[in-house]
Amino acid sequence: MSDALDRRATRGAADPGLPGRVSRATALEPTATTHAGSWAPDAGQDSSALIPMDAPPRLAISLAEVTKVYPNGKHAIEDIDLEVPEGDFVFLVGPSGAGKSTLIKLLVRDEVPTTGSVVVAGIPLDKIRRGDIPMLRRRIGIVFQDFRLLPRKTVRENVAFALEVTGTPRGAIRTTVDRLLALVGLTAQADQRPGQLSGGEMQRAAIARAMVHGPELVIADEPTGNLDPLISWEIIQLLLRINEMGTTVLMATHNAEVVTALRKRVVALEEGRIIRDEVGGYHREYA
Ligand code: ADP
Repeated sequence: MSDALDRRATRGAADPGLPGRVSRATALEPTATTHAGSWAPDAGQDSSALIPMDAPPRLAISLAEVTKVYPNGKHAIEDIDLEVPEGDFVFLVGPSGAGKSTLIKLLVRDEVPTTGSVVVAGIPLDKIRRGDIPMLRRRIGIVFQDFRLLPRKTVRENVAFALEVTGTPRGAIRTTVDRLLALVGLTAQADQRPGQLSGGEMQRAAIARAMVHGPELVIADEPTGNLDPLISWEIIQLLLRINEMGTTVLMATHNAEVVTALRKRVVALEEGRIIRDEVGGYHREYA
């Protein structure tokens, strides 16, 4: 393996030139609670010893006075303040049209806010250059309701693909993909194509793919929306496990049973505003 390839493989750890970006070498990642790097090919050294004991938790998500008005005049998000500390598991709920998808689009820089600031994984998105957006997306794993797997590729290839496009060496890809497939329980299905899998297995593959770069934050947009209740619980258990390993999870959902049972933080949107933000259950108006 050449040095050049080696350097390319670890490029994600350096991410030079991003405004406001905290360097891995000097500060906060991977932290004692951010274990995602352990399966990521670009894992940096554990710098947890550098973090003062009384340091406030770093924020995975910080929105300040964020409003999003679409060109047609629709106020989809209205003056939202939201802070999600690193390591949290947060449900995002609200009826259809409440603004959940818009909020997620703002977090992954699919949309830009009309006013206000959005900071994700320490990166102020208003300052991010277009060329740095792929780096942002590597720091966020995204899981969709409809899985979005490549139909002609096997499970292994679907997971490996995101690493191939960033120039990761083949050996590192194999190791990472094997670890992730074991994590999501798909080792036996590695060579099957999505069409040969159940819905739950497809979502497991999509979760493995979301984890390939060892993201700090996983955003799951209705991940159980196409799954029956039993399989939904398996997917939730997997997301909880990923969260326990240190990755922040934000999950948009209508799954009242899951939200009520887990007693996690629930951020409820209605007409673009946060109407409730508390640990607890699912209220009827969220449906
Ligand atoms: P949710 O995900 O909670 O269903 P959305 O964020 O999709 O809500 O939508 C919030 C509001 O913004 C809705 O009224 C929706 O019709 C509107 N909206 C969403 N996307 C656009 C867009 N691209 N242009 C105009 N209006 C939009």
